[in-house]
Amino acid sequence: MEQQKLTTENILSRLPQPLLAWYRASARDLPWRHTQDPYPIWVSEIMLQQTRVAAVLGYYARFLESFPTVEALAAAPEERLMKLWEGLGYYSRARNLQKAAKLVVEQGGFPQTYQGLLALPGIGDYTAGAIASAAFGQREAAVDGNVLRVVARLTDCRGNIADPAVKKAVRAAVQAVMPYAAADIRIFNQAAMELGATVCVPNGPPGCGSCPAAEFCLGRLRGTAAKLPVKTPKKARRREEKTVFLLLKKGKAALRRRPDTGLLAALWEFPNVEGTLDEAGCAAAAERWGLSPRAWKSRLAAKHIFTHVEWHMTGYALEVSGDGPADFLWVDREELKEHAVPSAFARYYEEALKQLEAAR
Ligand code: SF4
Repeated sequence: MEQQKLTTENILSRLPQPLLAWYRASARDLPWRHTQDPYPIWVSEIMLQQTRVAAVLGYYARFLESFPTVEALAAAPEERLMKLWEGLGYYSRARNLQKAAKLVVEQGGFPQTYQGLLALPGIGDYTAGAIASAAFGQREAAVDGNVLRVVARLTDCRGNIADPAVKKAVRAAVQAVMPYAAADIRIFNQAAMELGATVCVPNGPPGCGSCPAAEFCLGRLRGTAAKLPVKTPKKARRREEKTVFLLLKKGKAALRRRPDTGLLAALWEFPNVEGTLDEAGCAAAAERWGLSPRAWKSRLAAKHIFTHVEWHMTGYALEVSGDGPADFLWVDREELKEHAVPSAFARYYEEALKQLEAAR
């Protein structure tokens, strides 16, 4: 055990120098890497949670254009914030960003320590380390899935990376080998993540041929790298059937707000019910809402995959008369565009724009 621990430490202690040289020469040019301002670094880190870099770039630029400072974000109307986040998913991230922005403004600026950052809403161990190091040059490790994979392969670690004890041990091991010069600290975590994202990749074989750590990587030398890291297999996603109503009335469509808690909390949606209804079932449901179906427009199937659940949707666009329940909001084409409708309903959103355009 002691022997293995020493081996792990020895391997990781060889990492910083070639990793930093490789990063300085080969890293992707990403906008949040050009700043030491904690605000844009924080925004990028939150957006990048569970989301690919390519998907984040446009959102990041639009977000900072709309809210260029933490004060502007703190003061933003929630509807505008959610609209800007529309399609990025995991909407609680946006709400937590604003909660944290309000606290930062109240406190007169960003906390500059790992512990201070960790106390803000939506900032966990990884994000606190990432901001503390990149913005403030604090010697704090930031270990995400990329870094866990790189370390597991480098050290031929067979522990389950979903196990908190293994994560903690990896964080401590990375922390121990972090560089000391401020300029190196600021990029070290980014460099380890970059290696995982672009060379020691999660899907497909690791790119050992272009890896700065190849010479001393135990996983490569022992031929185990492609099978690492060990992790608990994901649970199968739950399947849910839904019927979505694109209710149209005199050039307007019905929206309603989702509940304040749970999946896609407080965002706008097209009215929907559990289960797959046929036209007769749909007509009955519309009548229960106090609406009279007048003409069927289209039937649209769609699927949306969340982390733990899949929605299989059958949708009907239908012209109705009547007002429906009090929580239905009837919006025209322009008003629809101002409401944050999550991308789970993208197919119906597009169809609504088309139908409302045709009704003008
Ligand atoms: Fe990953 Fe290969 Fe580099 Fe090892 S040598 S860290 S397995 S890319």
